[in-house]
Amino acid sequence: MNYAISIWSPPALPVAGSSDLFPVRRVFCVGRNYVEHQKEMGGDGREQPFFFIKSAHALVPLGGAVHYPPKTANYHYETELVVAIARQGRRIAAHDANAHIFGYAVGLDMTRRDLQQIGKDKGRPWDFGKNFDEAAPCSALVPAASIGHPAKGAIRLTVNGKERQRADLSDMIWSVPEQIEYLSLYYTLEPGDVIFTGTPAGVGPVNPGDALHAVIDGVGELKITIAPPL
Ligand code: MN
Repeated sequence: MNYAISIWSPPALPVAGSSDLFPVRRVFCVGRNYVEHQKEMGGDGREQPFFFIKSAHALVPLGGAVHYPPKTANYHYETELVVAIARQGRRIAAHDANAHIFGYAVGLDMTRRDLQQIGKDKGRPWDFGKNFDEAAPCSALVPAASIGHPAKGAIRLTVNGKERQRADLSDMIWSVPEQIEYLSLYYTLEPGDVIFTGTPAGVGPVNPGDALHAVIDGVGELKITIAPPL
């Protein structure tokens, strides 16, 4: 059987220390998973986090040049730990969650903040604000077999050499196992799913020419430069 149009390669992330690629099925993202970020987004610091989804085709593996997207004047970075799922599961208990994890990466949940705000104000979906071309730069995945399951360690971002975000993975409201437990109540988690686990405080705008450097201790780093619009 033939496809009616030419088929594309599945979205995938490189695996650190290997020539393998990790094929990506879905990209789940947690909103407001650090208290100080909840507050800077107008929350009271006590609400529960929540999920939204980006297309796997929004990934920019290994970062590099990321084009300033159209229809925004307030394009933000959000530095996040990324978790990759290797084993199917439903109703996964938090204490069993690590067995479903392939590995970890450093990601940027790039956001058209002005379009996200319009969605919030009008009670409409967040897709235009969160799910667009090149909206998910991500480093290589580091297997849990190599680094274990990081629950603490600094997560930080510099823009043009100036620090803009710094927190600790232990500051998450929902830990990674708790996120997997919650998400697997709503979805069958599948091999190839990845989760962007939320960003610390300090989000802000970037413009063409800016250089972003995200680091998570014990996991890795991700560099992007903002390129002019396509
Ligand atoms: Mn985010």
